[in-house]
Amino acid sequence: MADAILEVRELSVEYLTRGEPAHAVEKVSFDLAPGEFLGIVGESGCGKSTLLFAIAQLLSPPAEISTGEVVFKGRNMVQMTDRQLRTVRWKDYSVVMQSAMNALNPVKSIAAQFADAMEAHGTRSKATITARSKEVLALVGIDPVHLESFPHQLSGGMRQRAMIAMALLFSPELVVMDEPTSALDVVAQRSLMVQIKELQRELGFAVIFVTHDMSLVSHFSDRLVVMYAGQIAELGPTDEVFDDPLHPYTIGLLEAFPSIYGPKVHLEGVPGSPPDLSALPSGCHFHPRCAKATPLCSSVEPALYTIGDRHVRCLLHQGDGTRGE
Ligand code: SF4
Repeated sequence: MADAILEVRELSVEYLTRGEPAHAVEKVSFDLAPGEFLGIVGESGCGKSTLLFAIAQLLSPPAEISTGEVVFKGRNMVQMTDRQLRTVRWKDYSVVMQSAMNALNPVKSIAAQFADAMEAHGTRSKATITARSKEVLALVGIDPVHLESFPHQLSGGMRQRAMIAMALLFSPELVVMDEPTSALDVVAQRSLMVQIKELQRELGFAVIFVTHDMSLVSHFSDRLVVMYAGQIAELGPTDEVFDDPLHPYTIGLLEAFPSIYGPKVHLEGVPGSPPDLSALPSGCHFHPRCAKATPLCSSVEPALYTIGDRHVRCLLHQGDGTRGE
């Protein structure tokens, strides 16, 4: 992608434990265009949150990037020092965590937490801090009067909105979000997703959105990455992945949630559970759970095959396109 804002190249992350290292992310590559909304989906333990933390340079031991690059606006963040990272984090890209109650400081008002973030990045003027804090809170639909509120005085939806407002304090070009709606009920989830999409369109920032719920991103993401066992199983435009999923794992995930249209059907889903990342199955890592597995699948590891603007890691598509890696 010529004008990519973010280029993730062959990124691998390992959890270094006393036994065998766990390969949480393995050779993941993708580009992100300015203003693009990329969804990353998969079950718990498939490596999607680790990937997001690796992109945001927020991994802590025992997790570490073993190989690869994360090139953001032309600079490889993997090689940056903490000091260099502090100059881009929050200003050029920001992060919204899963649970606002854990991410926000419970003993500080929203105003104090916004001020801390702005002062840490060089804004000293109290008037500027107050004006910008009111502005971003209004952007996410919260009355600026709540600047003086403490996190426990806000509803779950308002807390997540406050987190998003905080992430927008410096008008970053990229916001990475780790399941920001998972603690909310379905109505609040939908409303927050609509708001994130509206903000993204209005302000033009790109989004990487991690979720285990494929249906949640179906109407909001431009492209979708489906992860399994730390690898990209499938990547493509969201509507094409939903209309014509190529990877048996994607098909299983799509069959795991009900449609509101048509007759009631039995939900199949994907049998079994994700593999131990320190003892991955041979061949295709998905073969023990795959309904379409052939004898070859347990011995031959599929590459990521490119078919037009789509990518799929499955031997069934070996002859459909070019070998991607
Ligand atoms: Fe299933 Fe084989 Fe394709 Fe893996 S390579 S997803 S086991 S059919």
